[in-house]
Amino acid sequence: MGLKFLSLASGSSGNCYYLGTDEYGILMDAGIGMRTMKKALKDNGIGLEQIMAVFITHDHADHIKSVGGLGEKYGIPVYATQKVHAGLDNSKYIDEKLSLSRRIIEKEEPVQIKDFKITAFGIPHDASDCVGYMVVYKHHKWVLATDVGHINDTVGEYIRMANHLVVEANYDREMLQCGNYSFPLKKRISNGNGHLCNSEIAEFLAANFDLHLRNIWLCHLSKENNHPELAYKTVEMEMGKYGIRIGKDVNLNVLKRSTPSELFLLE
Ligand SMILES: [Zn+2]
Ligand SMILES: [Zn+2]
Repeated sequence: MGLKFLSLASGSSGNCYYLGTDEYGILMDAGIGMRTMKKALKDNGIGLEQIMAVFITHDHADHIKSVGGLGEKYGIPVYATQKVHAGLDNSKYIDEKLSLSRRIIEKEEPVQIKDFKITAFGIPHDASDCVGYMVVYKHHKWVLATDVGHINDTVGEYIRMANHLVVEANYDREMLQCGNYSFPLKKRISNGNGHLCNSEIAEFLAANFDLHLRNIWLCHLSKENNHPELAYKTVEMEMGKYGIRIGKDVNLNVLKRSTPSELFLLE
């Protein structure tokens, strides 16, 4: 039985990913409205009752909008680190505070949800705390690393383990430099504790490529400082330097900001 992956939205206006089997699944982040989320799932034959848990990466607004609704209205357990939960408790971006649905996850301590083994790992980013997740299911290792200030040893280790990788390509360095953002904001994005740029992820993927990596999805693209084609080309070109062929050695996709992806079947 294969694994199914769907991106419901990806970018600074909302992030939400689904990973599941034919019977059940989990969500990663809940940064879009309930109605949009339910519709995208339903369009792909997935009911909310199949969602076993929600895992939150960090407490920035674009990742948490529907956390309260999913947790308290629909009774879906919400997993996050203690610090992220504290951030959620203080956040003005969620209407309902978590009580019964609150679940604490520790970094590097796997949680078992049916046949999914989910491990959180630390990511440098300017939030209360920030984690990525690795989901192990049968022979699959699916890894999400979003809102990545820079690729430190831990992040690198998890990226290298992935068969299926959802990873940030937030901005193009030149577009950010020449763009309209204020100097402090430009600095915040690119100072190593903000977001990952196209060339950083491209260079890491090319230099660390292993054939067990089957699928790459570039996520959390900036609307102002990136283009899907540019992010794709940057990774494709860098990998090309190492003789890695996109579509043959590895699949590469760019996730859309506000429209759901196709439902990817991972073999
Ligand atoms: Zn974000
Ligand atoms: Zn963030």
